Amino acid sequence: MLKSLDGYVITVECQECGNDYTSDLSGRTLEFLDEFKEYENLITKCECGEREAFNMNFPMDAFKDKPDITERERTQRKNIRALIKKIRADYK
Ligand SMILES: [Zn+2]
Repeated sequence: MLKSLDGYVITVECQECGNDYTSDLSGRTLEFLDEFKEYENLITKCECGEREAFNMNFPMDAFKDKPDITERERTQRKNIRALIKKIRADYK
């Protein structure tokens, strides 16, 4: 889960061990993959070895989110949208 972002440093809560870890994405650009017709996922890795993939092709319109999503999911979506604007090639 993408818990927060501070500039280009993201904090991820590991889905396996529950620990928080950070990753600095300064200088990182996510490119469009012609083969898959979408932007590459952001992959992060915890110290425990667990990897997490974040879909960076998320719909940018928050108003389309269903009202019944959890607060946690809402937070994650907000963070992912903010991150997309920072590192996805089309927003740079
Ligand atoms: Zn972990």
